[in-house]
Amino acid sequence: MSGKDVVGAVLKAASGRLSGAEWLVLLPGLTLLAYWVGGEPPMIALAIGAPVLLALSSLMQRKPAQTGEQPLTGFATEPILLDRLDRILADGTLSGRTTACFVVLFDEADALLDRHGRAARDIILRQTAERLSLTTREGDIVARLQPGGFSLVLAPVLRFDLETAIQLAVRLQAAATAPLALDGLTLHPSVSVGFCLAQRSPGPTAKAMLEAALIAADEALRNGPGAIRAFLPEMTARRADRATLRTGLEQALDEGQIRPWFQPQVSTDTGEITGCEALARWHHPDRGILSPTEFLPLVEDAGLSARLGEVILFGALSALSRWDKAGFGIARVAVNFSASELRNPRLAEKLKWELDRFSLPPNRLTIEVLETVAARFDDDIILSNLAQLSALGCGIDLDDFGTGQASIANIRRFAVTRIKIDRSFVARADTDPAQKRMVAAILSMAERLGLETVAEGVETPGEHATIAQLGCTHAQGFGIARPMTVEESFGWIERHRSGLARVAQVGRVRR
Ligand code: C2E
Ligand code: CA
Ligand code: CA
Repeated sequence: MSGKDVVGAVLKAASGRLSGAEWLVLLPGLTLLAYWVGGEPPMIALAIGAPVLLALSSLMQRKPAQTGEQPLTGFATEPILLDRLDRILADGTLSGRTTACFVVLFDEADALLDRHGRAARDIILRQTAERLSLTTREGDIVARLQPGGFSLVLAPVLRFDLETAIQLAVRLQAAATAPLALDGLTLHPSVSVGFCLAQRSPGPTAKAMLEAALIAADEALRNGPGAIRAFLPEMTARRADRATLRTGLEQALDEGQIRPWFQPQVSTDTGEITGCEALARWHHPDRGILSPTEFLPLVEDAGLSARLGEVILFGALSALSRWDKAGFGIARVAVNFSASELRNPRLAEKLKWELDRFSLPPNRLTIEVLETVAARFDDDIILSNLAQLSALGCGIDLDDFGTGQASIANIRRFAVTRIKIDRSFVARADTDPAQKRMVAAILSMAERLGLETVAEGVETPGEHATIAQLGCTHAQGFGIARPMTVEESFGWIERHRSGLARVAQVGRVRR
């Protein structure tokens, strides 16, 4: 190594790979090395030049932070992050180092951030940003993204592969999801993480890499809560596909392309139809029938949940009126409500108005609430809405029971009338003793609480017989019928009723 190389190495160092303090510690040793390698001239150049360069470089590095940081949080903004990432990427091609960009987003950001007001929102964001920075190393940069969420760019490293990236994503999640104290409440935020490794970036610019990390985070959010996703090129195509679907959504709702289908629920005792659940379907002109998992997230994103709710409720109540006119005597129709719909302060009033419009008493309508929603003990609006609806006389079904950790206290407070045992417990309940024990435990709890029960996803006669024998009062699933249009329901109900009548007749003849 010549004296020129030594000075060159120091110049490179001053450009930012080690901190100033680290280089000052190394300086005496380097000065000796310079003397040993090249004699006096490089030694003098190093002894005088290095401190000057370090001072200049630290001034240069601090400059953007001073001008661009947000006064509120003291964390970098997106433009600063992009600027730093662009510099790292440009430098990386010369030095063979790499980097990665991470995006951390709150699961259900609207609920978490809006429920507690603007001041609380800033506290949550600030504390999370601080926690995220604590998990990073010197030189990494954490920035806040608008409207909520964070991005992290790694200082250049020699090796950073998928496995290391996942480990870091897990650490970021652990930091962001630690309990957070706020006005006497303890919040348990959950976050999803997406990332893009420099070597997998769709383009050589910071903008392309951040966009890729955002796409991955968006994909994680859809699969959350608490998911982690690495950017893959096909995610871009999926996103474009969703964007196309989203543009047609409003028109689809207006033109009646989105309608409820109905899945019957039967009594395990008599076999009679006790109700039907309304399940949204999109009759897409080009793509055929789309299931709610394909379009519900788009409805939420587009802020159209209330509109979808109106369409499904209207379809469900008009179906009930039509079944009444046909003399089918179906007791009730159940409608799924999302958390955002349940947070509408005028929900009870709106439902009452709709029921009156069809001259139906409130006990003909059941509200299905996901157990994960009922587990949120701190949501006063949802609590008060359900209390009002229950006082009105509507039934309240706790959906997907067993997956959402609702406490018994909450089941009481949410005025639940019925529990829907999730399909994951019902599957193979006849052949798998562990499944059977689980269903039995849920049923005995429901019985003690005086609640009725529906087993969801009953697919086989064996499962049907087992849940009936264990004391579950209602059954729903492909084994009884798949969801169907209201038009199809007439034929199915007729056939089911005449089947029951035949069985009763055979029973009478035998006796
Ligand atoms: P969910 O409320 O748990 O509805 C039951 C889902 O299980 C339905 O899927 C139904 O088709 C399916 N299913 C019923 N029986 C069986 C079975 O035996 N085996 C299997 N494998 N599946 C069965 P679907 O219609 O795709 O709905 C998915 C989810 O979308 C629903 O789950 C519900 O959470 C949501 N959803 C549907 N319609 C609406 C709506 O109008 N509004 C809102 N907010 N959510 C809705
Ligand atoms: Ca449901
Ligand atoms: Ca369910």
